[in-house]
Formats: sequence, structure tokens, C-alpha cells
Amino acid sequence: MKLGILGGGQLGRMIALAAHPLGIPCTVYDPAPDPCAGQVCDTIRGEFDDHQSLFRLVQASDVVTFEFENVPVETARWLAERVPVFPPPRALEVSQDRFVEKSFFRSLGIPTPPFAAIESRADFDRAIAEVGLPAVLKTRRFGYDGKGQAVLRTPAEAEAAWESLGGRPLILEGFVPFRREVSTIAARGRDGSLAVYPLTENEHREGMLHRSLAPAAPLPEVEDHHRRVLEELDYVGVLAIEWFDVGGRAVANEMAPRVHNSGHWTIDGAVTSQFENHVRAVCGWPLGSPAAKGHSGMLNWIGTHPPFATVLREPLAKLHWYGKEPRARRKIGHVTLNAATAPERDAALARLD
Ligand code: AMP
Repeated sequence: MKLGILGGGQLGRMIALAAHPLGIPCTVYDPAPDPCAGQVCDTIRGEFDDHQSLFRLVQASDVVTFEFENVPVETARWLAERVPVFPPPRALEVSQDRFVEKSFFRSLGIPTPPFAAIESRADFDRAIAEVGLPAVLKTRRFGYDGKGQAVLRTPAEAEAAWESLGGRPLILEGFVPFRREVSTIAARGRDGSLAVYPLTENEHREGMLHRSLAPAAPLPEVEDHHRRVLEELDYVGVLAIEWFDVGGRAVANEMAPRVHNSGHWTIDGAVTSQFENHVRAVCGWPLGSPAAKGHSGMLNWIGTHPPFATVLREPLAKLHWYGKEPRARRKIGHVTLNAATAPERDAALARLD
């Protein structure tokens, strides 16, 4: 079995690292000359519309997956005519557009914030009247880690946000007064089998994930909602969904049809990591147990190198460095912590954070 991966960032790298002990060689495909996944497996450099280079990936792979959701859907469909591609390209289509994604959740009876699509200034004014303030204005496509979005609390902020984001397809969402943010992560096999990880609680800073804790206190219904999404898409692989906890009720924020930053704790804190289960799922192999081993935490390193000496001196900590050069707002690595009790984990996290 040989696995092709569209995208050569840290998620592709960690998929390749999980595939290696299973005897599965990986090839990443990326337009960049030196993707960090290329340090641990073969690389093919090519644009996503370069059929000649894509054909080399077909020849190098028994199955192809992807590590980021902005792979053009046409690329995934072109490949799917030549080699099995998992997750299904439709999952990309749904998750690439925030309006389509929220409409999809709504069609499955999954609660979302109030939302409205915006093409013009008239739509914007109508959306504000409909959704009310405070609200969050976001680009429909290519937004991630808080990029391409603004919180609107006052008419003046609404005006300023329109100045900076207007002219592109947008979505206005009601501002959710959440108690906490959590994510569900689950793998679905080719045979429909499921491996559902314990709930993860996430803390964001400046729109980017800062740290995750698991297992988190349960939130009713999220697992059922997650299962419905997987089944509706006839999904294969790992899918993550981010939720707001609003007074004990789950409200969907967004989904990622891939392994997810909030699931990195599973590398050292679950019987089978999200990366290994993704590989097993897309290869048509049985899934491994998603059970948590004790209490885990994950801390992201963003923009600067991790303080190596401090991390390595912390007995419970495991360093995961992606081999990337530091740059503002760039994820450089993360640390996972696994402890027998939550207080032990929290104390170790506090020493590193
Ligand atoms: P997103 O890129 O949509 O995941 O947004 C990044 C972060 O912004 C989220 O993790 C939340 O902390 C915050 N956020 C996004 N949408 C909303 C919303 N509708 N209400 C409140 N906070 C939000």
C-alpha cells in the first residue's frame, strides 16, 4: 500500500510519520519547493492544475488523501477518476465555503449561529438587520486561523469591516456568547466503522488555536451530530468539527475534512493517534482504538521556535517540531503532555505556557 498526500505541511508530515511504522510509504504533492513533510517522505512538486505532475502522484499511490481543505475540488475529482481518493471530494466542496458549510449543517438539523450570505452592500445592510450586532463578518472562502474575519460590535465597526472585506463573497454570523470551544474528531473506515475520540476543549488566541485539553467534559448531542455529518458525506478518514458550547447546547462553527490541530494530543495521549487512524481509514484497514490514555494537553508554538531546553526538561512533555522556519503567525511546532491526572497535566502545562 502506497499513500499519496495532497499538501506537504505539518499535517502531511505527521500523516507520513504515522504511516511509516505501518509499512506504508508516502509521497506528498505540493507546489512549494521545500514543504516540511518532504523532510520525512518523498515529494512531488507541482501546481494543483498540473495534470502531468499529478499523474506522477497517481503512479506513486494506491490511494490519495489530502492534508488541507483548500485543495481545488477539481484536482481531487480529476485524481478520483484515476485512483481512490479519500475523504470524498464532496467533503472539500462543503467545507471550502462557509455559507455552503453552515447550510449543510442546517440541512442535517445541526444548530448553527444565525447567518446570511453577502454579495453586495445591500445584502450587508440586510444581513445586519437580520442577524443583529454583535456579529462576525467572514470571507466565505480561504479564511483560516482568524484570517479574513472581523467582529462587529457597533455600526462604526461594521462600516470599517465592510471597507476592508467588502467586494468578496462574505458571510455574516451572529456573535456566539460561548462558554467554551470544543471539537469532535472521529475516523470513519471504508466499511462505515467509526472511531470517535473523546471530546477536546480548545483555547484560541487571536483566532488561532493556542492549546487543547482532553478528555473534556462531555457536551450532549455532539457525537450524534458528528456521526450524521460522516454518514451524509459517506466519509472515509478523519473529520473534525469545531463547536461552541452555549449554556450546555452545541452550536456548530466549522468542520475540517482532515486531521486537525486540536487532535494532536492523540499522538501521545490516545491508543491510536488521529494520524494513524486516518491512514488506516483511507487504506481500508480496521481502525484502532481512539481511547484516551490519562489526561492530555497540547500547546502550539506559533511564530517562534519552542523553548527547546524547557520543553525537553519537562518529564511529561513531548516535543513535536515541524522543521519549519519561524515566521509571524506560522505554526512551528507543538508540545503534547500526557499525565495520570488532570491537575498533574495542568501544572505541567502551566510551566510551559
Ligand atoms: P473560525 O476561523 O471560524 O474558526 O474562527 C476563529 C475563532 O474566532 C473561533 O475559534 C472563535 O474563537 C471565534 N469565532 C468565530 N466565529 C465566531 C462567532 N460566530 N461567534 C463568536 N466567536 C467566533
